[in-house]
Amino acid sequence: MADRYQQFTKSPVGKFVVPKLGLPNPATLRRYKPGQPALEGPALLGAAPGGRLEKVIEAQLHRAGIEVLSTAADKHAALVFDATGVKDPKQLREVYNFFHPVIRSVGPSGRVVVLGTPPELAQGHERIAQRALEGFVRSVGKELKRGATAQLVYVAEGAEEATESTLRFLLSAKSAFVDAQVIRVGTETKTASAPADWTKPLEGKVALVTGASRGIGAAIAEVLGRDGAHVVALDIPAQGADLSKVANKVGGSSLQLDITAADAPEKLAEYLTTRHGGVDIVVHNAGITRDKTLGNMTEGGWDSVIAVNLASQLAVNEKLVADKVLHENGRIIGVSSIAGIAGNVGQTNYATSKAGVIGMVNDGAPKLAEYGGTINAVAPGFIETKMTAAVPLFIREAGRRLSSLGQGGLPVDVAETIAWYANPASAAVNGNVVRVCGQALLGA
Ligand code: NAD
Repeated sequence: MADRYQQFTKSPVGKFVVPKLGLPNPATLRRYKPGQPALEGPALLGAAPGGRLEKVIEAQLHRAGIEVLSTAADKHAALVFDATGVKDPKQLREVYNFFHPVIRSVGPSGRVVVLGTPPELAQGHERIAQRALEGFVRSVGKELKRGATAQLVYVAEGAEEATESTLRFLLSAKSAFVDAQVIRVGTETKTASAPADWTKPLEGKVALVTGASRGIGAAIAEVLGRDGAHVVALDIPAQGADLSKVANKVGGSSLQLDITAADAPEKLAEYLTTRHGGVDIVVHNAGITRDKTLGNMTEGGWDSVIAVNLASQLAVNEKLVADKVLHENGRIIGVSSIAGIAGNVGQTNYATSKAGVIGMVNDGAPKLAEYGGTINAVAPGFIETKMTAAVPLFIREAGRRLSSLGQGGLPVDVAETIAWYANPASAAVNGNVVRVCGQALLGA
């Protein structure tokens, strides 16, 4: 599973040879450790005239323990710009004016965050100017070096106070492999409440994680457990031994169940109700691949992938919502894939199912908002797991290097993004699909 090339670049020989030959030099990404400062240096905060977020954000950054500067220093751990005042393409010049003098001052694993108004909620020139910010942020993501990332957060009017969990996530090391993403806050729900303890935001919550016996699912169980949730780790009976290990490690429970069984939604609803009085967070991580080009694909290969990756998840959601097993304020989180965005050779079945997960989010967001909850998804890119270790070397190397961060992500990167969606303070984050892909060029 190790990225041998990246290890080589850090060796004495690699340090000498790699720059001389102009080879890719992926940075060591800063990743979250409990007790770590929110940022490794100050954040420079700026705004276009007439912005409605600057003051609120300043207070949020202070609360997170971040030093906020209004005039530039030599080095910055983050550059944060409120672009909600940009109402006309001519005013995009404000974005240039703020970033141009300071963009080189962003430190290793530094952060650029631009905040705007969702274009679809604006009109005329404001809509056009706000939409234009996407091109800016995606290009900055490609230009930044040393593991730094850039993101765009569109905040609906009235949701200014509800941005805190998103800002904290994006500025922290938890978002190490999330790059050049566009996130919407407050388009469905405007309010959110802060957790009593930001280091244990899921205290008292019950979280179901499917496919939790290994890989990304095991990392999700660990991170949600770390954040205070009681985790119900679910997997097929054949994975029972590994599943128990994960459940024990996080102090949770294990449930052996094939989610494609006809009676799985019923069994799950009963289990969650009788053992835990319901569920707060449902993470649909279980997934399979049965790769074949379309002409070679059997009916079974098609059906099984759609069943595990999509149909069973819809059946579970419908049951948990209909019977109110999912608590009000509940969270449903899907695991899509960049294959579901870009398509992939040999994966018509898989990409169809994963694009369907995006459809599940689009369809579910207004319904969950009415229910009091949210539905979002992550779309991982190349993540270092047993699954990707089995990919042929050349494709594996391409998967790692053809991205702005020049490396694969870790299961924990997907898990941290899911934990941000699950946070009670993310109640206004609904209907998003965030790629955890290091700005992979695939499907960009
Ligand atoms: P994995 O194969 O290691 O884990 C998947 C788990 O799902 C396994 O434990 C498996 O037993 C379980 N599962 C399969 N069918 C099930 C069923 N019917 N009922 C209950 N559990 C079932 O895969 P992973 O790499 O950890 O991927 C996790 C998720 O992330 C999947 O949805 C996958 O499609 C997605 N994903 C992975 C990557 C990557 O790079 N690894 C990239 C994009 C998306």
